[in-house]
Amino acid sequence: LVTLRGVQKHFGALHVLKDIELTVQRGEVVVVIGPSGSGKSTLCRTINRLEPIDEGAIEVDGQPLPQEGRELARLRSDVGMVFQSFNLFPHKTVLQNVTLGPVKVRRRKAEEAERRGRELLARVGVADQAEKYPAQLSGGQQQRVAIARALAMEPKVMLFDEPTSALDPEMVNEVLDVMTSLAREGMTMIVVTHEMGFARRAANRVVFMDAGRIVEEAPPEQFFTSPRSDRARDFLSKIL
Ligand code: ATP
Ligand code: MG
Repeated sequence: LVTLRGVQKHFGALHVLKDIELTVQRGEVVVVIGPSGSGKSTLCRTINRLEPIDEGAIEVDGQPLPQEGRELARLRSDVGMVFQSFNLFPHKTVLQNVTLGPVKVRRRKAEEAERRGRELLARVGVADQAEKYPAQLSGGQQQRVAIARALAMEPKVMLFDEPTSALDPEMVNEVLDVMTSLAREGMTMIVVTHEMGFARRAANRVVFMDAGRIVEEAPPEQFFTSPRSDRARDFLSKIL
């Protein structure tokens, strides 16, 4: 469903993505881990074209990434993204946050978007917060709304970039639980996270990045018990 071939990306003199080859099948959950600065966020951002690439090719659902305009808006709705900071629209209610995109980009009727929006809010456990503003919600609730907002666009794949790292510890699990159930329901997901419990529970594959390269890829059991590379072993010894 998502293919990256020979992807190269520089920020000035800094070579941040080095010859990235990655294929994510439909329904697959890939967890990306690696040290700070290894290029995990940049990798995610290239997939919905928040960052253009210098060389190589990226395809989503068999289509090369569009450069601009309406096609780009379509891509952004096919590729849902959830960030560390929740990025909700502060002056819109929770319900408006999840209905705006479907109405504007997917051309859904307002009532239809609202019905579906309420369903999604219920699914992530915040149905009773629909009329509130983001600032009136806890971090965990806001992040669950951000997930519902991305899902409202009916994405083909969801990207998560450290979705729980800005949360107080007691709120981490409520967000991971939503992500785990999405994974179980067959959503294709690319998840940057240091939550190894989630990786073990939900990932089909762990991708380990270091200094802009994919150094190692393996199923979680294998990766966590017997990493092949020294760099992965060293990284795991620091975080486990
Ligand atoms: P972290 O775990 O800290 O989130 P990361 O693996 O997500 O790290 P990236 O954010 O992808 O790493 O950054 C990779 C490298 O690219 C870093 O050295 C970073 O400083 C640099 N970088 C990222 N974004 C930009 C930018 N817009 N301009 C210049 N350099 C950037
Ligand atoms: Mg990052």
